[in-house]
Amino acid sequence: AAILRNIEANGADPAIITTESSDPKLVTLAYADIRGQSERFRRQANILYGADVPVGTVISSLLPNGLTCLLVFLATTLQRWVAAPLNPAMKQSEVEFYLEDAATRVLIVPEGTGEDNQGVRAARKLNVPVWTAGWEENNGLRLAILGGNGVSAEPAALRSKDAFSGPQPDDTALLLHTSGTTGRPKAVPLTHGNIARSMLNIANTYKLTKADRSFIVMPLFHVHGLIGATLSTLFAGGSVVVPPRFSASHFWPEFQQSGSNWYSAVPTIHQILLRREVPSPVPQIRFIRSCSAALAPTVLAELESKLGAPVLEAYAMTEAAHQMCSNPLPPAQHKPGSVGIPQGVELAILDDDDNETHLGEVCIRGPNVTPGYLHNAEANAKSFTQGSHWFRTGDQGYIDSDGYLVLTGRIKELINRGGEKISPLELDAVLLKCPGVAEAVSFAVADEMYGQEVNAAVVPKNGASVTEEQVREFMLDAVAKFKVPKRVFIADELPRTATGKIQRRVVAEHFAGPQ
Ligand code: ATP
Ligand code: MG
Repeated sequence: AAILRNIEANGADPAIITTESSDPKLVTLAYADIRGQSERFRRQANILYGADVPVGTVISSLLPNGLTCLLVFLATTLQRWVAAPLNPAMKQSEVEFYLEDAATRVLIVPEGTGEDNQGVRAARKLNVPVWTAGWEENNGLRLAILGGNGVSAEPAALRSKDAFSGPQPDDTALLLHTSGTTGRPKAVPLTHGNIARSMLNIANTYKLTKADRSFIVMPLFHVHGLIGATLSTLFAGGSVVVPPRFSASHFWPEFQQSGSNWYSAVPTIHQILLRREVPSPVPQIRFIRSCSAALAPTVLAELESKLGAPVLEAYAMTEAAHQMCSNPLPPAQHKPGSVGIPQGVELAILDDDDNETHLGEVCIRGPNVTPGYLHNAEANAKSFTQGSHWFRTGDQGYIDSDGYLVLTGRIKELINRGGEKISPLELDAVLLKCPGVAEAVSFAVADEMYGQEVNAAVVPKNGASVTEEQVREFMLDAVAKFKVPKRVFIADELPRTATGKIQRRVVAEHFAGPQ
């Protein structure tokens, strides 16, 4: 709803610039068009549904990044329906889990999708109606029932109802699942109020204005791409460039030609970009944002020196409608190895008994935090403290002398060696300083003597040869002996999740066998 204001005010200003995946021509959608397209979506949806779609109806989608994907999201939420965007790369059983867990009423897939599509099969099994969505050059959004008799919802009999029934702050707008890094993904409802506050926080952090143009490389089915990079910019009246997917070879030409001036990405994407030729410096870049996983200070330094722009690391999670902390823009200091300062949220470091402590669980409080996980009383009881309603992030960290938050790892992933808790993030950063090492991850393996023992895996830099002995010797000089990895695996690549995250337990099993 906070974006509605811009839709009214910014009329002809560009909002979304994209190529539809089916059609490589550039499409620019103005703010006023978003309103028209949302109305079109509403009318067509009501026709396909056979009645007015009730407030709160969950509409899932399996759409690649682009105009259709973003419009389906905006139109769904403006209409007080609940958007539940999903990763189109998922297999049938995965889609089934998310459709069921979200209590989805309709699934939207791209025009041209067949019955053999994994998502369609999942919906058919669960009796969830499937609609297709596409883009028509002259009219815009086009919806149809998949497998219907070809009749699409031509909004001939237009209803006279007001276009937007006006979402309320407590209405759920978005239903997303956590990434499932530490266990089964949890369903997180985010309200219009949560998202409005998060957009405001992010726009304030980076001083976003209508002059800003964000190049979207992150998927729109997670908070990072959707809220962190896209909605925050639209909230500020700026514009977004949304290519169908991240492509390392197209990135710089498209970024430069489109007049973009910032992008936000996970560290893996920054690293992929650094492996290619970078047109350095790129004067149009105002700043680069890194979020969702730890950014190695070495990668940060390389990016900054090549691109000539500040690289600001932020800290976010689904439950907080994305951002909690970020390093600030210059002239304020940004600190490699830290995720910055709280941005519009309250922060506390608490021990297990909810008392403040130096090194402990990062807890946050603010209007951007979800009212609670969906049908998961156990997770809610664990995550919200009694009374004061702090939200426990599951991350361990401390606040340094300048007030900057330093994360030391996920509590579930700390390496507990005979009672001595070792921070895997701290070890990763040291391992990355070892000559010839490009990527590194430390993890716990089961150990008879200590319960858990430290192991690590490293990927050598292109052309470098690195041995286990060299890494261990380097570590013996750099850290206390009990933290030195007992074994170091030399690998070509590290197993990562679809979103570029490291699941240390998966890495441990990959290299050291069942744990
Ligand atoms: P699940 O909660 O299902 O285990 P997840 O925590 O990975 O999955 P997300 O909400 O996508 O799901 O990710 C939030 C988490 O990502 C944070 O709690 C934190 O552990 C990690 N994270 C985010 N930003 C950073 C960062 N800059 N540095 C290190 N870790 C980060
Ligand atoms: Mg989490």
